Amino acid sequence: MAHRVTLIPGDGIGPELAEASRRVLDASGIEFDWEVVDAGEAVMASYGTPLPEHVLESIVRNKVALKGPITTPVGEGFRSVNVMLRQALGLYANLRPARSMPGLDTRYQDVDLVIVRENTEDLYAGIEHRVGRDAAESIKIITREASERIARFAFDYAVANGRHKVTAVHKANIMKLSDGLFLESCRTIAADYEGRIEFEDRIVDNMCMQLVQKPDLYDVLVLPNLYGDIVSDLAAGLVGGLGVAPGANIGTDAAVFEPVHGSAPKYAGLNKANPTALILSGALMLRHLGHPDAAERVEASVRAVIAEGRSTTQDLGGPAGTSQFADAIVERLASTPAGAGARAS
Ligand code: NAD
Repeated sequence: MAHRVTLIPGDGIGPELAEASRRVLDASGIEFDWEVVDAGEAVMASYGTPLPEHVLESIVRNKVALKGPITTPVGEGFRSVNVMLRQALGLYANLRPARSMPGLDTRYQDVDLVIVRENTEDLYAGIEHRVGRDAAESIKIITREASERIARFAFDYAVANGRHKVTAVHKANIMKLSDGLFLESCRTIAADYEGRIEFEDRIVDNMCMQLVQKPDLYDVLVLPNLYGDIVSDLAAGLVGGLGVAPGANIGTDAAVFEPVHGSAPKYAGLNKANPTALILSGALMLRHLGHPDAAERVEASVRAVIAEGRSTTQDLGGPAGTSQFADAIVERLASTPAGAGARAS
């Protein structure tokens, strides 16, 4: 039976990436029944909100969505649709794998990190106010419940995916109460996995330096929301940039798959943007839907086309447009047999 999936094309480069990804996923051998709904700037005028109720209802009904990036006005205007979605649907875990790919010009060739970012609280709770004319306060919320939940997600992910170590990242030397609680919660959960998954912690600034110098020392990282956002861009940079960095937002009742990158408005409509991150987010979705073989075939095809280098977009040094890149992946998929695992390619 076809999987009914909500597809939110998004703003900027989103629609062309969504079209490319949909074609690749349709060629994966798994059947999809796409329910296309719009959110973001384009629907503001007609619905008075960038996230209309029927979009949320569609995801609640289908339990799975593939989403392109959505523009967020800076400093004013509506709140981030991405943050609203995560909070409204309780998508508490943001999973961002960062893995080197042959053919990309990067400083390291053997990076294989998984960033697990808490997605619902921290400074993203959006509790801010002005104090008079010349000051403003943002409130950082860290709870034991959310911290233990994300730590458990990270350890369970490590167990299920053959990983060996979880590193908790924090700034508990300065924010002794909030980050201290995050670290304490990670330690509590780590005790349940003792002997199976190694545990350690790092202060976030040191973590950044270590990742730039010795990324091979790390495996799964678990972080509060803001550090997770920043460190996952850093990790994306280690493996070829935002154009190739996929992501998943996972909750108890729903999951939304989206790239790490934003809507890159300067490339919108030019058939220039790299579809890899959204396609690989689609592969994460295939795995979530219980199709690891199809996910691996998609990943293997993407990696093969990138390694070849003839049909990639400009950001990867290639001559192709978004749609030609997708064509090459679709073609490659047709000749990639079941069992051609991405981890082996
Ligand atoms: P961005 O990720 O959109 O772009 C940064 C730069 O990265 C681009 O200028 C481009 O050079 C490169 N880039 C990003 N994606 C690419 C791709 N697929 N192919 C080729 N190059 C790519 O970040 P930004 O400029 O900070 O943000 C633009 C808008 O996107 C903002 O409104 C921001 O709020 C929003 N945003 C949305 C999401 C999301 O929807 N989850 C995430 C991040 C940013």
